[in-house]
Amino acid sequence: MKELKTFGWYAARVSPHLPKKAFKPVPTRLFGGLAYLLIVIAGFLTIGLLDLNPWISLGVSVILGSSFAAMGFLGHEILHGTVVRKAWLRDFLGAVSFFPLSVGPRLWRKWHNMNHHIHTQDEDKDPDAWPTVDKIARSRFLRWVYQIPHSFRAFAGFCFLAISFSLHSLKMFKLYISEFKPNKRPEVWLQLVLPWATWVTLLVIMGPAKWFFAFLLPLLIANFIVMSYIATNHRLNPLVPVNDPLANCLTVTVPKWVDVLHFNFSYHTEHHLFPGMNPKYYPLVKQHIKRMWPDRYHEMTFVKAMIALWKTPRVYYQGSELVDPYQNKMYGSLGNGLDADHIKHRVGELKEKVSLSKKKKTM
Ligand SMILES: [Zn+2]
Ligand SMILES: [Zn+2]
Repeated sequence: MKELKTFGWYAARVSPHLPKKAFKPVPTRLFGGLAYLLIVIAGFLTIGLLDLNPWISLGVSVILGSSFAAMGFLGHEILHGTVVRKAWLRDFLGAVSFFPLSVGPRLWRKWHNMNHHIHTQDEDKDPDAWPTVDKIARSRFLRWVYQIPHSFRAFAGFCFLAISFSLHSLKMFKLYISEFKPNKRPEVWLQLVLPWATWVTLLVIMGPAKWFFAFLLPLLIANFIVMSYIATNHRLNPLVPVNDPLANCLTVTVPKWVDVLHFNFSYHTEHHLFPGMNPKYYPLVKQHIKRMWPDRYHEMTFVKAMIALWKTPRVYYQGSELVDPYQNKMYGSLGNGLDADHIKHRVGELKEKVSLSKKKKTM
């Protein structure tokens, strides 16, 4: 592994080449959010008030799900402070944007800004990092999962993307709620309960069939879109002892129109260098990174990254190896021998092999 540098080290070298306005908040990005909000309201009314053919309802669900996801991407940048700087307004706009995904702004900032960004791909401190062989050994469920043949696991893993953002956000609530000061906890609870109460109310008003097309199916679609980015952004990269965005992030490339719809969320390495920057300038940041550190930077098409995710296991061994623990297959990781064009494995014995046996029942 190359010598690791912090995101501040890279940012200090790139920022002199960027215009000052790149670091200013840009409220006009809210027009995009307003457009999505209007589409969502129109979608609810269309399904709620009309008796549509199921195929048309399905089409509306796809539009709603795509809009839920895109609002989440905007909520993400709003809560990084790229749109407005006033704290109460930032949180309010973030809450509206994350409402369909039912994530509160306080929880999000704690989970994402203060933990995922500060401790990216740290085995213990990044709440979004994938497990290590040690963790697998401690969980009966995960041990069972990793004994299933790879293709079934890959298929199930892709299906799981359709619910995992919602499940993970509930897990994050459980993990972090006790870390909020007692006087802040009611607000954090309210930010969780209010969206869910709204969706249950919608169920009562619309009835289950319409609610399925208006909320449940769009939520699954939005989960899948958001999670496909999150999964490709880090899960082919190694776990690292130093938070080096060029080592622990992957920028995926998508058609220009997708970047427009998703507020440039694909530029994830650039985002980890400058989380508070207007993402409009990420293509410029990318140019500078590729000029200065071409051999460290990771990028690939979104489709290639998804195929690589399908073909590789999701267990870390010694930080830089993705391994199939029961098959003794080692795949490396980006920057550590994993070639997304020709995914191959080596056969190697795990030192922790013994701890994966069923006799160790620590759970
Ligand atoms: Zn990230
Ligand atoms: Zn972020």
